Amino acid sequence: MSIAQQCKFYGHFITVEKALAIRDAASANERNSLNFECITCGKPVRPHHAGDRCAAHFVHLTRNPECKYIDPPSFL
Ligand SMILES: [Zn+2]
Repeated sequence: MSIAQQCKFYGHFITVEKALAIRDAASANERNSLNFECITCGKPVRPHHAGDRCAAHFVHLTRNPECKYIDPPSFL
């Protein structure tokens, strides 16, 4: 089990830092159409900023217990 620090974005692997930069540069409308995908299960993910207990990482939009990448509970 690990947290995801890379995702797939239009066919390219990008880091969570890059994804955060893309999201922060996007308008509110554009954010809804950003298509970050989990590199393991292909489900939609979103980048999450680093917090007190966790490095920056991706979380599934809908929790996916089947995926090797866990969704840390700290952001809830
Ligand atoms: Zn996944």
